[in-house]
Amino acid sequence: MVVNIESNINGKREKWEISTPLINTVLELIRATYEDDEVVEIINPTDCNNLSRVSEFFEYILKYPKDVKIPKVIVKDNKDIKESNVQNNPLGSDIVCFSGGIDSTAALLYQMEQNKNSIALWCDYGQTYKEPERKAVREICEKLSIPLYEATVDLSELIVLGTERFKHVFPARNLLIAAIAVSLNPQEVILAGLSDELIVPDKSPRMYSEGSTYLKHKVYSPFMKMTKAEVLSVWKKKWNNILTVDETVSCYSNAGDCQDCSSCAKREVAKIASKYSSEFPKVFTNQAELISNHWFSRIDKFDNPRRDEILISLNELFYKITPDLQEKVKFYLDKYYDEVKEWQKHLDSLSTVIDEEQNE
Ligand SMILES: [Zn+2]
Repeated sequence: MVVNIESNINGKREKWEISTPLINTVLELIRATYEDDEVVEIINPTDCNNLSRVSEFFEYILKYPKDVKIPKVIVKDNKDIKESNVQNNPLGSDIVCFSGGIDSTAALLYQMEQNKNSIALWCDYGQTYKEPERKAVREICEKLSIPLYEATVDLSELIVLGTERFKHVFPARNLLIAAIAVSLNPQEVILAGLSDELIVPDKSPRMYSEGSTYLKHKVYSPFMKMTKAEVLSVWKKKWNNILTVDETVSCYSNAGDCQDCSSCAKREVAKIASKYSSEFPKVFTNQAELISNHWFSRIDKFDNPRRDEILISLNELFYKITPDLQEKVKFYLDKYYDEVKEWQKHLDSLSTVIDEEQNE
């Protein structure tokens, strides 16, 4: 499998192929996982001499959803292999792993606010929703005058193979994009994971700490302590004159904003809870069953912010949601009244990014 990069800097386009031991290793791990191999052997692509630790890390990244079967990862020593990891010249910029969605776009806006140079890296790996993403990433980068690198690697056949097992999860996707990013030798890699995504292995604290060591570049998220609604509360106050959220895209269909998938549902919850928007989103009706069965059945187990934001947003539009949802909202709002009120106050007052790094 080949990874192609096309850069577009001030309208100047350049194209080249990239290959590093790390990228090839991650691709091999993805292939073996999708093809359901029992065992996959790789040559250690990192500087870490503790091979079982490296193997554990990769198995951890691949194993999501938690009960999914993955191959055993055997890591072999790389000491006989000549160093083929020729480092590019330092890029002098950070790379923001960019999908055109709310979180990674907010990361670009935050980088601009901090006066940090960034290059956006988007990856077309054959995802079914790549066309709306491609359109959004190009338009956003042009509007923000941020250089865009587009990586292409065709994994569409594997994705088809794994639809049943992985649904919308693409194992090690973020690790692959981060591996492509470090091959360009940036200062830092920004991978915009949220506080409610820390269970996703390649957006987890372990990815940011251990992953940074293996990738020899700092991989970090400015939003590790924030939910999507918190990010939007800040966006509304700080960045909306630069770019609106409607210019971003995060949807599992190839139509862009289908208003009928779980990604659209999450996005609308955040928009309403943060008061970014007050318009009734069709997805609250279209996905009423998902919300009622899938979300409310586990709502006691959700982290407080996630629970609170679901309740805040549905309550905000109470008279427009289905009777079944109304009943549930009433019940749980009663149960979690104080907690929800407090979170709502917090969202209303939040006006800056809660970035540990800036507060150090
Ligand atoms: Zn959708």
